[in-house]
Amino acid sequence: MNESSERTDKRMELGRILFLLGAFATHAFVGYALVRGCTDVDPRLGLAFGLLPDGDFLFPADWGWPFVHRGLTHTPLFAVGLLAGLYLASRNRSVALAGGLAIGSHLAIDSLSPMGIRWLFPLRTAWNPSPGLAVHSPAATALLWTAALGILAFRAIQRRSHDREPTTDHKQEHDDKQPTPTPDATTELE
Ligand SMILES: [Zn+2]
Repeated sequence: MNESSERTDKRMELGRILFLLGAFATHAFVGYALVRGCTDVDPRLGLAFGLLPDGDFLFPADWGWPFVHRGLTHTPLFAVGLLAGLYLASRNRSVALAGGLAIGSHLAIDSLSPMGIRWLFPLRTAWNPSPGLAVHSPAATALLWTAALGILAFRAIQRRSHDREPTTDHKQEHDDKQPTPTPDATTELE
């Protein structure tokens, strides 16, 4: 191997490491934001469960299927089993829901990538309905981070207005008294 191709190899390796770090950070942040935005559970659970399926990078190479990247840990069956375990351990539905949001977001994102996920595991079929999107491209990453930041911002605004306005019930009562126009009127025009 000559010096320049060695250098190209090193650059490709570095590129792959940066790509993976970006993907890990995105999965963790999306999981964190979903749990923070949609539940009252510690968002660090979202971070961990958002990242968890990619723990399969740690499987030794000689273990083989399904202990490979995008194998067992990227299957709906694994997610359901894990969430059942989480529920049994915590006896808390919110915790299970939070874990489900985070791991579900990971599987949803990966399912759109060209490699897809193994939807029908343990059936060993090549069926892959993925649209083949570059889910960790810079554009997709920017989109996912913006969405996650949006969820966090929404949650922060919601919390602040909730703290400022402890008597929202009165407003609700008032609104209920207003007759609302029915957009369903068109159904009579058949
Ligand atoms: Zn993954």
